[in-house]
Amino acid sequence: MNDNQFATLGLKESIVKAISDLGFTKPSQIQEQSIPAALEGLDLIGQAQTGTGKTAAYTLPIITRMSDASGIKALILAPTRELAVQVNDEIQRLAKYEELETLAVYGGDSIDRQMRALRKGTVDIVVGTPGRMLDLIKRKCLHLESVEFLVLDEADEMLNMGFIDDIEEILSHTPAERQTLLFSATMPAPIAKLAKKYMKPDAKIISVKKSSMTVSKIEQSYFMINNKHRLEALCRLLDLDDPKSAIIFCRTKIGVDELVQELQSKSYMVEGMHGDMTQTHRQSTLNKFKKGTLSLLIATDVAARGIDVEGVTHVFNYDLPQDVESYVHRIGRTGRADKSGIAYSLVTPKDLSMLKQIQNVTKSSITQRPVPTAEAIHNKKFKDMVAKVEEAINAGELTKFIPSAIELAEANDPISIIAALMKIKFENESVFDYSSNNLDAPKKDDVRLFFSVGKRDGLTPKILINYIKDMTRVNTSVIGQIDLMENFSFVTVNETVSNQILDKCPGGKINSKRVNVEVANKRKR
Ligand code: ADP
Ligand code: MG
Repeated sequence: MNDNQFATLGLKESIVKAISDLGFTKPSQIQEQSIPAALEGLDLIGQAQTGTGKTAAYTLPIITRMSDASGIKALILAPTRELAVQVNDEIQRLAKYEELETLAVYGGDSIDRQMRALRKGTVDIVVGTPGRMLDLIKRKCLHLESVEFLVLDEADEMLNMGFIDDIEEILSHTPAERQTLLFSATMPAPIAKLAKKYMKPDAKIISVKKSSMTVSKIEQSYFMINNKHRLEALCRLLDLDDPKSAIIFCRTKIGVDELVQELQSKSYMVEGMHGDMTQTHRQSTLNKFKKGTLSLLIATDVAARGIDVEGVTHVFNYDLPQDVESYVHRIGRTGRADKSGIAYSLVTPKDLSMLKQIQNVTKSSITQRPVPTAEAIHNKKFKDMVAKVEEAINAGELTKFIPSAIELAEANDPISIIAALMKIKFENESVFDYSSNNLDAPKKDDVRLFFSVGKRDGLTPKILINYIKDMTRVNTSVIGQIDLMENFSFVTVNETVSNQILDKCPGGKINSKRVNVEVANKRKR
């Protein structure tokens, strides 16, 4: 007998053994709900966050139910090559006691090798990216008549990347009786439409939502900045809002230390908190913050995890966190106990995809706002000063200042005196020299990229686009003009994705020619 909790779900014993070998003892929520339904043969629409074990949720029932007919019996579509490889590895671990052959197919790797593997006719499960699958179908190497299970993994991501037509075409090559399993972190309308069109009417919908993902009382904004303006943008926001109680988040301990130093050198009263500080130090900082004698606290995600402070008015994401959950955690420090809160994020073009993911998962809107102008900050400070002066007049008790005031008034006109006093006061208060009124936003120019493949290598725009889609997560709408030369080519892309392409695209192969990618020229067009 096996006391692993997976044993009660109706899976084959050899599979339960493989699960135990992996150290899984308890099914995750999505697994607990998906596995029995999938074992019954139902189509499934599963919604759950990343990291909840969706791969096993579909793999386990598939390998339990798979027939021993010949041919490809399961086809799994994933948005990127990294995911395809990851899923393939996980399937191999879960199917280690089964006699199954799996193959990952994706762009950027030799298509010949993949074609040879498929031609042997012994592959049972194919995992891959839609572009490459379609290519292999067209080359008559990928035969889908025997497919019993079709999985769309990270369906929302595939749609975001513009794979919808490819997916529909692949689906049209598979038998209608297949069992279809769709998994997605979010369920936007196009996914529902796709599911309705291609899945059986009795498809089961399973949704595992995390309760902590609600952020409704918090007003969220982001500011699009150049990286070099990060500090100044933060200062401008601090100067304008003058938060009573704010936590400023940095990703790293070094980041916290640096920001503390920079802000302290500009006379902001801040203190930092991270894991390298002693417990007593952290506790004393936290006490000051709780009492309100310290209004700006700079912290790492880890250090802030346990912080439960009432009345935090602002959360600043000096840089965005690495994952959505941390974002939710961070901004949840404000807006507690039914109070409203403000969350500001400083974002560069590189962070846009993360920002989109945050919006999708939290189902909240994060509004873009301009960084405050120097003028707005000055006006705010002048207004505050006027208010303070009036307050002081009303409070009275000015007797001891009267003789000096009379002296000043005898020699100067009153407007000049007031203006001069304000100037002195303001120079004391103004900690950051805002030399320009507006902070320039990042340029969203196009970048021309050089690809080391050309017409001679059989390159067509479609092949090139599919290659970029396979290697990155960029939406093809950011791909502009394509110029194919004999030996190389140029692709104009939006600057927001050029780094991703430069990072991910070199090293693969197109029609067995190795791909190199560089910026074609530094000239912005
Ligand atoms: P998702 O596709 O939902 O993002 P994955 O399928 O990639 O999640 O799984 C995330 C990680 O959790 C993987 O390393 C996987 O091996 C592990 N995992 C999956 N199911 C379980 C389980 N029941 N218990 C422990 N770890 C699990
Ligand atoms: Mg997954």
